[in-house]
Amino acid sequence: MNVPLVLTQFLDRAVSLYGDKEAIICEERVFTYKELNHRVNRLSHGLRGFGVQKGDRVAYLAPNSVEMLEGFYGVFQLGGVMVPLNIRLKPDDYLFILNHSESKVLFVDQDLYHLIAPIKNKLETVEQIVIHYKNPETNEIGYDEWLGEQSETAFSRADVDENDVCSLLYTSGTTGNPKGVMLTHRNNYLHAMSSMHHLRVCDEDVLLHVLPMFHVNGWGSPFYYTANGATQICSRKTTPALIFDAITKHQVSIMHMAPTVLNSLLQYYEQNTPTFDQSIRVVIAGSAPPPAFVTRVEQELGWEFIQVYGMTESAPLSLVSVIRSQLKDLPMDDQYRLKAKAGISMIGCEVKVVSEQGDEVTHNGKEIGEVIVRSHGVMLGYWKNEEATMEAIRNGWLHTGDMATVDEHGHIDIVDRKKDVIISGGENISSIEVEGVLYDHPDVLEAAVIAVPHEKWGETPHAFIVLREGRTTTEQELITFSRERLAHFKAITGVTFVKELPKTASGKIQKIVLRNDYWESAGKGGKFV
Ligand code: ATP
Ligand code: MG
Repeated sequence: MNVPLVLTQFLDRAVSLYGDKEAIICEERVFTYKELNHRVNRLSHGLRGFGVQKGDRVAYLAPNSVEMLEGFYGVFQLGGVMVPLNIRLKPDDYLFILNHSESKVLFVDQDLYHLIAPIKNKLETVEQIVIHYKNPETNEIGYDEWLGEQSETAFSRADVDENDVCSLLYTSGTTGNPKGVMLTHRNNYLHAMSSMHHLRVCDEDVLLHVLPMFHVNGWGSPFYYTANGATQICSRKTTPALIFDAITKHQVSIMHMAPTVLNSLLQYYEQNTPTFDQSIRVVIAGSAPPPAFVTRVEQELGWEFIQVYGMTESAPLSLVSVIRSQLKDLPMDDQYRLKAKAGISMIGCEVKVVSEQGDEVTHNGKEIGEVIVRSHGVMLGYWKNEEATMEAIRNGWLHTGDMATVDEHGHIDIVDRKKDVIISGGENISSIEVEGVLYDHPDVLEAAVIAVPHEKWGETPHAFIVLREGRTTTEQELITFSRERLAHFKAITGVTFVKELPKTASGKIQKIVLRNDYWESAGKGGKFV
């Protein structure tokens, strides 16, 4: 008989093989796998006391912490569904998600409670709010005291099937209203198996959590690091200085992060030359970076770079760039060029790039099509949104809305989101390609390129630029710089200098915000609204 692929197995395995090993270091607090397991049991007993049953939703509004990690397994023991909330939303967004997900219990960090207080009385289904850390001055329950009152004995688990939903992850909202992605135990379990293989995760790994666990990239990783008995480090804040300190202090071997965060590490390194131990074996980022960026990470920081591609709807990862051991006979420049491509399908994933007619694009690195995915990770659907589900999954294939090319070796190169492609005089321009060129300019710290209205061409590329401190490059200089390096129709036609770019909580640039603001102020209404 088959063993159901349920996520609690990962913790069981770690407890039996690595019980006395450090499971998680959360600032000053250290917990072994056995201790973590006791806390998980207490949590499950406590949740049962609240009347939580199989299938009930339990929401978390918390930074990376032991409370969040134990939440995963504590909720799963009951067959419950985790609803991790992005910590950078507004009270009304929480109201929408908590009511939409029909969450029964909400765990909230003390520093984030002020986001819930204004909407508390409008929550339709939340029966219990529990506050992490200090005992609340409000009339809510304080987590530590409550947890302390529960039993740490083994919990008699609900009968959970691998196809049961275990999480409702609301997408990051880069392109619009968040949708609740239903992932099953099986989705996450097989995603973890495939990721641990491709990233070569082992018990000697020390992971520094940089991505938030409420976001799908951060969310998936605790499973495969737990399964392997690795140690996870997390803290409430992740500034570049703290990251470099943590690397040496904990001998961190692996980190996953948004490329914008990796960029800020590079920037910090160039300005402050912090000393840090070379314990990192690999750093993983999900975004199409220019080869020059990969070169800097590998040469200046000395870390192997792996690019991954994925989305919440596919658990998330489907593509992984080639890794150093597969490349060792190639010249370094070719290695960096290949790593700048999202790469090849991960185990258990089938990824194709297809034209509008549904035919696979020619593998010549030129023809652009949409990325479609069929895999163990593809979601069950969007919660209470059948229409969006049918739109996203057609004939068993997840339509990602991302555009890509494929080279003669089958390596997939993400060109852009469909919605971010700039159409100028009938030609498609990849905003990512233009940004890549701007990042090569020594004065540019961050760049985001969007389509703006143009009388003759319909649209042209316009750049939002954050300059490095003390630099004074002008708009005209950047336009000339891009014209020298790109076909002229791809060159930017204007620049807006900004102090910072709008980003999602996981560090992604929100081009929709830039576009809406620009198109509104240009009086054109929102093409992309
Ligand atoms: P929403 O769907 O709510 O608008 P989102 O798409 O940003 O938000 P996520 O699921 O977090 O939500 O992000 C997935 C998207 O991130 C992908 O569809 C793709 O556009 C982008 N992405 C992920 N990996 C890469 C990569 N390696 N290269 C380029 N883009 C990437
Ligand atoms: Mg998306």
